[in-house]
Amino acid sequence: MADDEKWAEWDRKPKSKKKTTKQIKKDLTAECLRLWSLCIRTRDRKCQLEFMDDKGRIRSCSEDTYLQAHHLLGKRNHSAIMFDLDNGLTICRNQHFLEKANPAVFHNMIIRTEGIDKLDELRRREINLKYGHNKFTIDDLLRIKAYLTAKLKQLQSDYGVL
Ligand SMILES: [Zn+2]
Repeated sequence: MADDEKWAEWDRKPKSKKKTTKQIKKDLTAECLRLWSLCIRTRDRKCQLEFMDDKGRIRSCSEDTYLQAHHLLGKRNHSAIMFDLDNGLTICRNQHFLEKANPAVFHNMIIRTEGIDKLDELRRREINLKYGHNKFTIDDLLRIKAYLTAKLKQLQSDYGVL
């Protein structure tokens, strides 16, 4: 191959830009959140929310399309437990929208569904982890990714692939 051709070939190859630590962490965090969400939805299969209907009966939504994984304690303010599977609940798109549209109603539904004890337990878990918790390191995120990947496999064999 002539030198010209070699250069031409080299020039066509995508340039590998070295990722910054920040970018690696951002990508790993997104990947872990994707796995976390898939684990939650694979486990729950349908909308878990319970609410009171207009006759005063407690009903569960059980919608099984347009499902999303909801953080019981939000990931922005409770990052230490953002990948904890106990901190997730499957909710349909219709009701997840209430989180912004009517936060008080949404919060009541979460408490009705999960119970205040569960939320307290998550807060305690967060407090324990938070001691010394700053931000996840790349090693932390790689470990979490491996854990969630294995967990997803297990959930898929127990409940089926979504
Ligand atoms: Zn629902």
